[in-house]
Amino acid sequence: MANLLLLSCCAPCSAGVIKKLANEGKQFSVLFFNPNIAPLEEYQKRLEANKKVCRYFGVNFIEMPPDHNAWLKAVAEGFEKEPERGMRCKRCFLYRLKQTAKYAKENGFTEFSSVLGISRYKDLESVNAAAEIAQKEFEIVYDFTNWRKNAGEQEGIKIAKQLNLYFQNYCGCEFSKR
Ligand code: SF4
Repeated sequence: MANLLLLSCCAPCSAGVIKKLANEGKQFSVLFFNPNIAPLEEYQKRLEANKKVCRYFGVNFIEMPPDHNAWLKAVAEGFEKEPERGMRCKRCFLYRLKQTAKYAKENGFTEFSSVLGISRYKDLESVNAAAEIAQKEFEIVYDFTNWRKNAGEQEGIKIAKQLNLYFQNYCGCEFSKR
């Protein structure tokens, strides 16, 4: 049976997908790997909100501890002034998706996916391009389902409101707060 690892960036983006997969009886876990988020208090708020959604739907939740300094060095250095949807974001998607693919491969998952492109503010093509590289490098299949379909984003926001979850007002890194 397939066993999916779903990378989540935050509760509002992932809640609709989690509900859908849970209702379908899919075997899956949610991975929270977001070393891009700063400051730490903001990270904690998003982490707790995502945990709450998973508890609500009875889904296994995994946190991969963040190392924001490592993320800054590997992703943002030299790209601090890039606009959103630019090179820094492409590198950020690749960084998180590679780690997700690696974790999935090493921990018995048969495939991985992410909600990084579910928001209309995100460049889905960039997310898919990064996923393509990650799946090849770690030899594990990426599920390219377009989670935006069937109002996936709106459903997530609806659930997050119902559960009274935290809503962020910027993407995640300090450079997106500008
Ligand atoms: S704006 Fe968002 S996607 Fe882009 S680098 Fe920052 S955290 Fe990553």
